[in-house]
Amino acid sequence: MSTTPRANAWKVEPLVLPRKLRNKQCKNGFYDPAVNAVFLHSAGDSQDDGTVWAYRYRNPRGCVMREQFGFRRTECACAFCQLPCRHIPGSLDVSDLARLCPPGLDVFRWAEEHLRALADRPVPTLVPARQAKGACHWLFHGQCAVHENAPYSCAFFDSHMTAAEANRRSAATLQARKDDAAREGLYYRVWRHLYRKGLTATFGDKSALLEEAREIRRCFEQRVGSGPKA
Ligand code: SF4
Repeated sequence: MSTTPRANAWKVEPLVLPRKLRNKQCKNGFYDPAVNAVFLHSAGDSQDDGTVWAYRYRNPRGCVMREQFGFRRTECACAFCQLPCRHIPGSLDVSDLARLCPPGLDVFRWAEEHLRALADRPVPTLVPARQAKGACHWLFHGQCAVHENAPYSCAFFDSHMTAAEANRRSAATLQARKDDAAREGLYYRVWRHLYRKGLTATFGDKSALLEEAREIRRCFEQRVGSGPKA
């Protein structure tokens, strides 16, 4: 069996084993759906200097870029575009639940661990759960553990787009969430489930984000200022 992450499904034909793993030692491994990664360990000499391999699906070059509401995914990963992960994690669109929740899991149980309901928004809003200091629950060592399937507000916005473009993108997901709430759709029911259990969060710390943005800018200007003179 192997996974086909883009189809979000298992298939019977095995994928080719990476060259590094082609030896006669037996392999131990597991798939962690929370980070969409396969972990493998190959050992046979009882020494404590072995290697654990972690493989995660990544879009191959040239594959179709994710789109939502006719908008294309953004790709910038500069320091400014990473700030929301630490202070204001992006909200989910209605379509994100099916993409993020691994197949076969109860979405309500899964949401209790991975999502929070924002209680102070005019429209039902689900966001990633938070770490102790407010960073996104899926942020590991500066990397997004769900990058390929990141929530709409993470994947379709960046800090360089115009306000008009950001507003168009926001309006599309807000309308989708309003429509879902009107028909008591899954997004609304998950939001209500978390809200009733007290699994809520606040929007995030905008002033901390702005302060860090100012700090990044200061560092950048210092580096430019201290660069080689012509
Ligand atoms: S889901 Fe990923 S991109 Fe979005 S806030 Fe969390 S770590 Fe950042």
